[in-house]
Amino acid sequence: MSIIWSKNPYTGEKIRSYEKDTSHSIKQKLELIQSVQEEWFNKTIKERCELLENVSELLLERKEEYAMLMTSEMGKPISQSIAEIEKCAWACDFYAYNAEDLLADEIIETDAEESFISYDPLGCILAVMPWNYPFWQVIRFAAPTLTAGNTGILKHAQNVPGCARALEKLFLDAGYPKGCFQSILAGHEEIEKLIANETIKAVTLTGSEKAGRGIAQTAGKNLKKTVLELGGNNACIVFEDADLEKHLDTMVKARMQNTGQSCIAAKRFIVCDELYDTFVQKFTEATKQLVSGDPKEKETYIGVLAREDLAKSLKEQVDKSIEKGAQLTMGNKMEGAYFQPTILTEVVPGMPAFDEETFGPVAAIIRAKDRADAIALANNSKFGLGAMLFTEDIEGSLDLIPRISDGAFFINDMVKSDPRLPFGGTKASGYGRELSREGILAFVNKKTVYIK
Ligand code: NAP
Repeated sequence: MSIIWSKNPYTGEKIRSYEKDTSHSIKQKLELIQSVQEEWFNKTIKERCELLENVSELLLERKEEYAMLMTSEMGKPISQSIAEIEKCAWACDFYAYNAEDLLADEIIETDAEESFISYDPLGCILAVMPWNYPFWQVIRFAAPTLTAGNTGILKHAQNVPGCARALEKLFLDAGYPKGCFQSILAGHEEIEKLIANETIKAVTLTGSEKAGRGIAQTAGKNLKKTVLELGGNNACIVFEDADLEKHLDTMVKARMQNTGQSCIAAKRFIVCDELYDTFVQKFTEATKQLVSGDPKEKETYIGVLAREDLAKSLKEQVDKSIEKGAQLTMGNKMEGAYFQPTILTEVVPGMPAFDEETFGPVAAIIRAKDRADAIALANNSKFGLGAMLFTEDIEGSLDLIPRISDGAFFINDMVKSDPRLPFGGTKASGYGRELSREGILAFVNKKTVYIK
């Protein structure tokens, strides 16, 4: 029997071991899904919403326990772990309150007596999830998808097996029928086989571009729908009239929260020449104030990266950017899984800090000649998850909306997810949308009904 260990990236200590699923146990789980599917499908949306309310209550009741679990498995500072659990409860509340409306038949007038779209579940959806927001990513999939009448299988990242098990138990404790939402701990080959299995009707992945290409290929071969939430290299565009007094803290948070390990983090700060030097100075001063330390301490803002190898890869990206001419303004020291908040200035296209996603507390600051140059630089990325713009010229910035090629455009705030708004990317950031009405309709059969 094969086991995996969860390991605390801050202390380096092993936490506990978990049994990996075997092909036999996966087969049993698939059988369990088949046995529960009909019962789950036959529940009314209202009944499913009541169960989702229980999930929300349990999340809040167990907030400290779940937050500590995330913090020990992947090093997220505890105050940010608590905020993540609270956000999960918010998403559950949103769907518990709105799902009946969002899933109601949509009447369309035609020459029929009656014609409408009926939103029916597809069956079992496989969710392949990353470690960076171990609860949020899963809840943002599971809350709408299960409420629409689907069942779910979670394949979580290898370094957060405790979170995976806790999430499975959460739904059971909330009263969901056994088998409705199950976790499997398995390697990539088993996942490939699972995607091909006829019980699995569609796949959602939140993860890297590389994983997206692999999973989309397997799913495509098997004609299964995918939603892909992949990496990002978000631009934070700062026009020369931006109010730094008001917005600088938001910009620092946009890069540094979750120790920089967020897909929608501001990774490239593209600053108009006139404000560039002032911006660098103020951004550096503010970043120096961030408290690094034990992720379990309440005052810690910068914890550790989720694994030591991630810190090493980040260091390579920073070092290569410096070799290519970027200036190191602060940081670039690592110890174990800790990576010091780092600022690179005079970053240009062709450097890893511009071209690639940096998944850690590294801010790349880029000089733009003017506003037009700033927009061109922002769009100069293979990714398209989100862009943010800071300016006092709201009127003028509205004209830029069609010129931003990303899935989101935030003006005078950081790109963030919100259950009420759709979330997703373009280009190498993937396709499909989660959250809001889009999210609950991602995995349904939009059935045309025509009655003459
Ligand atoms: P990752 O290495 O791609 O892993 C994500 C998940 O995919 C894990 O469960 C991983 O399993 C699994 N996986 C990877 N390749 C697979 C394959 N060929 N077959 C089956 N499963 C596979 O990404 P990560 O390092 O955990 O997360 C960071 C990345 O996620 C970043 O690029 C970040 O931007 C992106 N992300 C995107 C969003 C979004 O909403 N767009 C949100 C958060 C994160 P193992 O752990 O077993 O390898």
